[in-house]
Amino acid sequence: MSKLFDFGLERLTGQPALSGVVKGVAAGGRGTFFLETFGCQMNDHDSEKVAGVLLSRGYVQVETPEAASLILYNTCSIREKAAQKVFSRLGEYREKQDEGKIIGVLGCVAQQEGEDIFARAPWVSLVCGSASYSKLPQMIAELEAGNHRVTGLDTDTDETFETEVTRRDNPWRAYLTIIEGCDKACSYCVVPYTRGPERSRASDSILREVGQLADLGYSEVQLLGQTVNSYADPTPRRMCFSELLLAVADVPGIRRVRFTTSHPSDFTPDIVEAIESQPKICDHVHLPAQSGSTKVLRAMQRTYSREEYLEKIVMIRNASRPIDITTDIIVGFPGEMESDFEQTLSLLDEVRYDSLFSFKYSPRPNTPSLVMPDAIPEEEKGRRLAVLQDKQREIQSRKHEALVGKTFEVLVNGKSRRENQWFGYSTSHRMLNFTSQAQELLGTYVQVRVTRAGPNNLMGEHNV
Ligand code: SF4
Repeated sequence: MSKLFDFGLERLTGQPALSGVVKGVAAGGRGTFFLETFGCQMNDHDSEKVAGVLLSRGYVQVETPEAASLILYNTCSIREKAAQKVFSRLGEYREKQDEGKIIGVLGCVAQQEGEDIFARAPWVSLVCGSASYSKLPQMIAELEAGNHRVTGLDTDTDETFETEVTRRDNPWRAYLTIIEGCDKACSYCVVPYTRGPERSRASDSILREVGQLADLGYSEVQLLGQTVNSYADPTPRRMCFSELLLAVADVPGIRRVRFTTSHPSDFTPDIVEAIESQPKICDHVHLPAQSGSTKVLRAMQRTYSREEYLEKIVMIRNASRPIDITTDIIVGFPGEMESDFEQTLSLLDEVRYDSLFSFKYSPRPNTPSLVMPDAIPEEEKGRRLAVLQDKQREIQSRKHEALVGKTFEVLVNGKSRRENQWFGYSTSHRMLNFTSQAQELLGTYVQVRVTRAGPNNLMGEHNV
């Protein structure tokens, strides 16, 4: 679960507590909620917005289910076993309903399992998929009115999930969803099914929120979307993604703009030009390849070939300032031959990613790849994953060694338990652990010189 920073509605809204809206606050009684989140950044941010909806209705967030009157479980189902995990967690919550608590399931698993959740766990009162979050305030109101079975499972909505208050987990870096759902149809992916079709948020609403965030002291914003660069402004301004990046960076007080996740097919030269022209746009692109074999990419319905993907990499590498590139790789997709896997390994050699997330393929419900022939045995998937990760470790070791002696500007995000130890992120999203004698650095930008490097970490010293 995300760490809860200790700040209240005043800090979130920039206004005195919403006394006209707040009602029924009674710590330990009805009016407290516990929200547990598993999954990607989109899920984390959805939970921040759900928390905002509840806070603005007068609920108080607590850190244990025992202290809560409303228990919510928000999880994704991209990886296997997520559904089983939810049901086992719901089993633990079963007796809590007898104590008068309301239990709800949110997110992709809620969308995927739908009303079956009520059959398997009758003590659940709320089932709401991520495409229906905009209706969450009404659903909470129905629960408060005593309705014991409330669902939100539509995926045909054209609305995005915007809230008046978002309880952000980090006081310096704010996530901001700019596009929800997905119109791509990757054969292994549940997102088009669970999150519905692509809906972009209006540019004026995004820019207004970024302005509010800057006024509240946030200096870094991360624009989110399953395919963030497919953004299409629904207003008459018709901003494209690169124009939006530049406009967000122009908001006074904003110092860093990140974005994730980009789809290779929609990664166009104007995005690189925007990064080149505006130093506030971070020099990091997460560009999932998924495989280095065109044959496997076709089976995955990824809409690009290996060669087309590599053209995008060359375009990014040719930028006038260095841009770090990270990726996602799936090994063991049905029909992936040893020669296909070798092409993925050679992609790593060719691109030399700064970091990667790698996964064994796992079939997901309601996806075309579920019924594809030539499944790869689990043991072989595990072997391929280990080989891939070894190769990447080697690449990262070399890349990290080359960074020793270099200095990075770091936004300080945390303090370690060890004395004088801090950590933060560079604009290229490298995490640096560093020593400093300073008393207070959280939320500030400091210069850190790298003194030591391992394959997965960088250590440094504060350059005063
Ligand atoms: S682009 Fe493909 S993998 Fe990404 S969310 Fe859309 S369907 Fe899923």
